[in-house]
Amino acid sequence: MRVKILGSAAGGGFPQWNCACPNCRAVRAGTFRGKARSQAQIAISADSRSWFLLGASPDLRGQIEATAELHPREGVRQSPIVGAVLANADVDHVLGLLLLRELQPLRVYAAESVRRILTEDNSMFAMLQRVPAQVTWTSFPPRTEFSLQNPAGEDSGLRCRALSLGTHYPAYVSASRQDELKLGEASLGLIVGLSSGKRLAYMPAVPQIDEALLKESEAADVLLFDGTFWSDDELIRIQGSGQTARQMGHVPVSSAEGSLVQLAGLHHPRKIYVHINNTNPMLNEAGPEYRQVREAGWEIAEDGWQFDL
Ligand SMILES: [Zn+2]
Repeated sequence: MRVKILGSAAGGGFPQWNCACPNCRAVRAGTFRGKARSQAQIAISADSRSWFLLGASPDLRGQIEATAELHPREGVRQSPIVGAVLANADVDHVLGLLLLRELQPLRVYAAESVRRILTEDNSMFAMLQRVPAQVTWTSFPPRTEFSLQNPAGEDSGLRCRALSLGTHYPAYVSASRQDELKLGEASLGLIVGLSSGKRLAYMPAVPQIDEALLKESEAADVLLFDGTFWSDDELIRIQGSGQTARQMGHVPVSSAEGSLVQLAGLHHPRKIYVHINNTNPMLNEAGPEYRQVREAGWEIAEDGWQFDL
């Protein structure tokens, strides 16, 4: 399986359009020791010809253009992207589906609750249903492994299993709708790989670390883990108000309860932080936070990385 990290930032990207935090200002000034990043997006393939997206980022158009493997093949108006697997209904995670609305057949895998939010409550997603067999929605329950198929139903060889990580639905989902949804389908981690091969764990939004998560993480060969915030009060300190990292569904990287300490005992997986918010000081390669993370054996994902599993 080939894995491509098309985007590695949290929602808003880096720099973010309305942000003048020290990181964003330094990137714009050209003085930042580190990389700009687009919003989190992963692509996987068993054969490097047909690709599945994990999520569908608002930056997908630019990410596709920056990735030769995802360009339409010569003479054919047909993308190598055959489907997507959704981990939640966050705007930053699903908006890219609307960019894929050119009547290209796609198969979109989503938990039933997420599918209902998008197709029953948000009429704009009807653009994905203008002709029969445009987007084939396929629901999956958490914890059950399923195979990834192209829109024609051909098996890619890739397998996926979802873990329930969070119970909060996006703020745009009405209270009455939320009452009808399953809490365990709100925010998922995705475990993907070939049936006989190694496993990638993609966990971009982790509200808390428990024994089950530690076990799944240790069993993975590559762990792409929530690196959104360095500290719990990061946004409050920068904005003067707002929510903590945990209230937003993200365990911070630092502190005794943070992921750096809590996941220190993992020895099997290659550990990579992804979904990094523009305010996170570990983006600054000249800073002590970056050094601390690297010395602890973690990598910090950058747009354009790829690896084979
Ligand atoms: Zn910023």
